[in-house]
Amino acid sequence: MNGGSGVSGRTSGVFVSMLGLLLPRGCAGCDRPDETLCPSCRDLFDQVIALPFPAAVTGYAYAGAVYGGNVRRAILAWKDHGDEECDREFAQCIVALARRALPIEGVALDGALLVVPAPSSASSLAERGRRHLMPLARAVAAYYRSSGLDARVDPALRIAARVVDGKAVETAGADQRASRMGGRLTVRNRSLSRVAGRTVVIVDDIVTTGATMRACAVALETAGARVLAGLALAATPHYDSDSPAS
Ligand SMILES: [Zn+2]
Repeated sequence: MNGGSGVSGRTSGVFVSMLGLLLPRGCAGCDRPDETLCPSCRDLFDQVIALPFPAAVTGYAYAGAVYGGNVRRAILAWKDHGDEECDREFAQCIVALARRALPIEGVALDGALLVVPAPSSASSLAERGRRHLMPLARAVAAYYRSSGLDARVDPALRIAARVVDGKAVETAGADQRASRMGGRLTVRNRSLSRVAGRTVVIVDDIVTTGATMRACAVALETAGARVLAGLALAATPHYDSDSPAS
């Protein structure tokens, strides 16, 4: 009996996977049929939440939604469960936020405006098999180019692995990203010359305490950049502009 149920468990797992290929998808936030992100879930991302971000020239990072409920579900489906069809939806969300919160038409910049995605750890990159923030960063850069700015994406930041006894140590879990990376978030060597003297907009998915945004700003400013603001899909209610960046 036991052996039989194990086989049937595996069989039903395969069957469910096949159904996933055959059936139309549901909304990433609420499962409503035939939608990637349904209009009511999409509306949840249409806010402009200004988060104090003193390291930035504008003094703010902006988020388009409060992280929780269907917003959380949709972001996690996209970010951690490979729902790449959401790239387009979330790119539209972050561009709508940029247009409303950070319209910088006609601003005279010294050189290009750089759109820099917050970095992922090597283990998160390996798990996802892609840099999920790149489609969002590209969309933001395209929006600013359409405003007449010379805007481009530079994945300038990295999280250096912690080395213990000669071995790289990685820990998974986005929520701990900020706390475990203190001092290890740096500008890549190859981006140093591109970042120096440039104006930068940072793009992230979820702002939790704000420590990641601040660590990004510190690394970029150390390399000579001027951080204009941060943009994120969503922010938790736990954001704290005074908490340390480690
Ligand atoms: Zn929905």
